Amino acid sequence: MLSQKKKYSIELFEGSAQSGGRCRSYYDKNLDMEIDNGNHLILSANTNFLKFCKLIDSEKTLKCLDSSFNFFNLKNKSKWSLKIEGNLFPFWVFNKKQRIPNTRILDYLSILKIIFCSDSEVVSKYTKFNNLYTYFWEPLTLGILNTHCKDASALLLKNVLKETFLKGKKSSMIYQPRVSWNRTIIEPATTFLLKRKVKLNYNSLLKKIIFKSDGMSKLIFQNKEIDINSSDKVVLAMPPHNVQKILPEIKLPTEFNTILNVHFKYDIKKLDHLSTPILGLLNSITHWIFIKNNYISVTVSAANDFNDEKQESLVKKIWHEVKTALGIKSKMMPIYRLLREKKATYNQSPHNLNLIRNISNLPKNLSIIGDWTETNFPCTIESSILSGKKYVNSLD
Ligand SMILES: Cc1cc2nc3c(=O)[nH]c(=O)nc-3n(C[C@H](O)[C@H](O)[C@H](O)COP(=O)(O)OP(=O)(O)OC[C@H]3O[C@@H](n4cnc5c(N)ncnc54)[C@H](O)[C@@H]3O)c2cc1C
Repeated sequence: MLSQKKKYSIELFEGSAQSGGRCRSYYDKNLDMEIDNGNHLILSANTNFLKFCKLIDSEKTLKCLDSSFNFFNLKNKSKWSLKIEGNLFPFWVFNKKQRIPNTRILDYLSILKIIFCSDSEVVSKYTKFNNLYTYFWEPLTLGILNTHCKDASALLLKNVLKETFLKGKKSSMIYQPRVSWNRTIIEPATTFLLKRKVKLNYNSLLKKIIFKSDGMSKLIFQNKEIDINSSDKVVLAMPPHNVQKILPEIKLPTEFNTILNVHFKYDIKKLDHLSTPILGLLNSITHWIFIKNNYISVTVSAANDFNDEKQESLVKKIWHEVKTALGIKSKMMPIYRLLREKKATYNQSPHNLNLIRNISNLPKNLSIIGDWTETNFPCTIESSILSGKKYVNSLD
């Protein structure tokens, strides 16, 4: 993108051996197939993401699902759906059959309260601890912010609600990759960059920046050093904990939340009764079940409590939930892969958001981009792309 706008020559240094960062796919030897590290859910409101896919010519690798969010309550085995209709206003709250089970119309005033929230408050400040909290606010907040309602910034949630559900169906359709995130983003984006002569360096971990009075003089990598001229621009596109190591004087969030995924290898043809490839679970460890092409994948957000739990016992409990929710009879637990992304996002609280908003006095020609730097929206692929776009647009 940069090279198209101006005559910049771009060189990219990636610390790991592959592209993708927190949204990547890899071949898993144990499962003998390619899996995504996590289940990245995109909504049609994510227009920067969709434009990005168009730019790198990967739109066809996406599938668009309906704007229905299906849930299974493990406690009483009931099922219900939240259907986002074509209206701007959520009229479904007036229809008892469409409302979330055992909620009253008055409970929905909390949506209004959140819309007018103060910048410094958490989501739970605007919600009573009732069924709407358990069956709507908590799963929604965990899914969107990877943060519990008691900690999560109401402002970030409000901004997402305004762009998605409150705009109706057209902004709430779900996108998923047909095959993998590798095919949808990583491979086509890498091809796009290589075609434009961007030099990609893998295994190039930035360890330090040497500063001089009027800017930067050197980038010190694990395996090499690079001199920086006064006309060079350096962009750090890494998560806050990595930036913190390079720029220790800036105060950044130090609390992070895990996203845990368990991928079960499973012949999904046996599940043909399932109308939706995504199912939300309530009163369970499991938050979401994603039915992939040849595996069933479970997501648990803000899963810090399970960071130290032994794999085997945890996976057994999760598989039991999956079996119950999907009506699987088989006694054998399939082979699986458990992945813990311990720093999937920072804990998206008003305090941490404020720290990021107050980053100032960066050295000349040094910029920071990435999902977490978009302080009006949560850490998502959309925010990451948006931050990069804004950077490009800011160049003279
Ligand atoms: C399990 C999981 C599920 C998620 N679910 C969703 C979802 O449903 N929807 C959604 O939109 N988003 C989701 N996200 C968030 C999404 O993945 C991120 O917002 C997005 O990938 C961030 O992209 P980024 O390029 O800003 O940062 P990153 O993907 O973190 O990329 C940063 C890159 O910098 C590299 N790096 C770090 N330090 C250095 C260094 N010192 N030197 C050189 N390189 C370095 C890293 O190796 C990495 O490749 C999820 C994340 C996870 C982990």
